[in-house]
Amino acid sequence: METGKIDIKEMHWFMALLQAIDVGLVVIDREYKVQVWNSFMENHSNMRPDHVIGRKLFDLFGDISQEWFKSKAESVFQLNARAFSHWEQRPYLFQFKNYRPITGAAGFMYQNVTFVPLVSLDGQVGHLGLIIYDVTDIASSKVELEKANEKLAALSRMDRLTNINNRGYFEECLAKEFERAKRTFQSCSLLMFDIDHFKNVNDTFGHQAGDAVLVEAANLLKSTIRSTDIPGRYGGEEFCVILIDTNAKEAMLLGERLRKKMEALVVNYNGSPISFTISLGIAELGESMEDHKHWIECADQALYKAKESGRNQARIFKG
Ligand code: GH3
Ligand code: MG
Ligand code: MG
Repeated sequence: METGKIDIKEMHWFMALLQAIDVGLVVIDREYKVQVWNSFMENHSNMRPDHVIGRKLFDLFGDISQEWFKSKAESVFQLNARAFSHWEQRPYLFQFKNYRPITGAAGFMYQNVTFVPLVSLDGQVGHLGLIIYDVTDIASSKVELEKANEKLAALSRMDRLTNINNRGYFEECLAKEFERAKRTFQSCSLLMFDIDHFKNVNDTFGHQAGDAVLVEAANLLKSTIRSTDIPGRYGGEEFCVILIDTNAKEAMLLGERLRKKMEALVVNYNGSPISFTISLGIAELGESMEDHKHWIECADQALYKAKESGRNQARIFKG
């Protein structure tokens, strides 16, 4: 064989390799008609080469966005430069099922696609080659990892017993709301409450019963506030809520409603009916408050007043 020339026998080898390779190879012409369709494509699409060759890609795969594909392909044809499609921007070009048992989580095959310009003898890009890589393993593990991280982040914000925001995350939210409300001059109130004589509940019915009361109190709190309000468990039997777009007077209405609901609630623990009351402190965000910690102190002072005045009542902080 002369150097630089490919023997017809070697061409045959190339064709065999092209068929055996574990990536999809497709060649299309200027009219988007398929010219080459290797075994990978045949196996995953269940479409034989004699069925697809000569037919337009968009007629074969109706779900390919023509607008997107053409804008990619035209730049390859005109600029004679490669283009790429990454699974994170577009999960796949060809919708193939994913059969891999390990990555069973994904129902389809994630694909990276390279668009390769194929230059004809006249120097023009007459054809376009598509190389389709199955990246389901990588994509699935990344997707799974992201999901796990999201779950973990959510867990780290939650109080395990009551399933509402824990103190750390609540304080983060409060700091943000402090800044936001100051900037927008929107009224915002902090409501804090503490269960009265909670020690008695534990002493009389046991710690587990005390836990059940905390869970029910948190549930009642959640169901009483608006979805935009932010609740949190601040301490043992102390809870807080940030009441967005709410002044002290309006917060008092909610506080009273909450107080009455808690008073009426009967928690049944192992056949023992447990009743309790709460004391509440309300502090509307004011000019004099320096930071969110100061805001908490103000609500806490009002709560202390409510306790001092006999419990089972709500008090507004007066600066
Ligand atoms: P006050 O009306 O002054 O608030 O009286 P109190 O008894 O509620 O207050 P005190 O601070 O003396 O007691 C709070 C009790 O809350 C003591 C503590 O053991 C209990 N506690 C704190 N966290 C938990 C918890 O997660 N589960 C249970 N069951 N009890 C808790
Ligand atoms: Mg208490
Ligand atoms: Mg307390």
